[in-house]
Amino acid sequence: MFSEQLLAGRHILVTGGGTGLGKSMATRFLQLGAEVHICGRRKGVCDETATELMDLHGGHVTSHGVDIRNQLAVDEMIGNIFKEAPLTDLINNAAGNFISRTEELSPRGFDAIANIVMHGTFYVTHAVGRRWIAAGLRGNVVSITTTWVRNGSPYVVPSAMSKSAIHAMTMSLAAEWGHYGIRLNTIAPGEIPTEGMSKRIKPGDEAGARTIAVNPMGRVGTMEELQNLAVFLISGGCNWINGETIAMDGGQGLATGGNFYQLRDWKDTDWASARDSIKAQNDKDRAARG
Ligand code: NAP
Repeated sequence: MFSEQLLAGRHILVTGGGTGLGKSMATRFLQLGAEVHICGRRKGVCDETATELMDLHGGHVTSHGVDIRNQLAVDEMIGNIFKEAPLTDLINNAAGNFISRTEELSPRGFDAIANIVMHGTFYVTHAVGRRWIAAGLRGNVVSITTTWVRNGSPYVVPSAMSKSAIHAMTMSLAAEWGHYGIRLNTIAPGEIPTEGMSKRIKPGDEAGARTIAVNPMGRVGTMEELQNLAVFLISGGCNWINGETIAMDGGQGLATGGNFYQLRDWKDTDWASARDSIKAQNDKDRAARG
């Protein structure tokens, strides 16, 4: 549906672009002619993705091993990217999340999510936006949030609070930076099965099963649908969209709340096994980051 070189000349950073939805958006931007940057804490994963995408599609993908919780590392990465060629678009996709009964959450567990999703997203947006403004450049920011920025979600409170902060940042900066030609919007997807999601959000569940059972359209979302929406938002096809959150969830948020309320049925044993599998995954990821 898009012309082949629609994004030629664009320089796009996708945070968390080494895996999952970020990788799929990075792939589409590359296919449409953009130069792409991806970052994540596991540099090896980003390197593999960059190589894989360039082998498959040609073009140029640069991998950055950067933790967006580290403001200095973020600023250095963005400074280096702008020295070569200024970014034209930023996709705030990196996030962490895990399910927990809130009374069992530690302050450290809360910070682990809030530091990535709220603080990290701001650090990246700020580092990019201030350079655009200083250089008199226009730009697009698209952030990936959730439908429950509108209604909250039990059992993922740090994420719900932090995604709502991105929603607030989007509306606030759309108004503050619109006159510079800088637009900010968010996409709020329903479930699109990814490894990252199944590990800490739906441990033990068959990917998509719960969504398929309750979604008005009887299915999960696809990578292609997200790719198309992200491309459209940055394409210039409707530059007057600014400060919006666009849900793509088959209407699930409207029909059911689209959040984790259904976990109220879980017994202590369900929570214990979820906790064990999330801890095992955290240990594995920590080892992979070195
Ligand atoms: P994912 O594969 O786990 O993606 C998260 C990415 O963020 C990973 O590549 C991870 O890489 C990176 N990341 C995490 N913490 C980071 C940090 N501190 N600094 C830099 N990078 C970091 O999961 P996903 O399902 O694709 O999720 C992508 C986005 O979509 C998230 O914002 C999520 O909230 C949102 N979302 C997903 C769904 C869904 O159904 N999949 C639905 C609604 C919203 P490292 O671990 O190497 O850092």
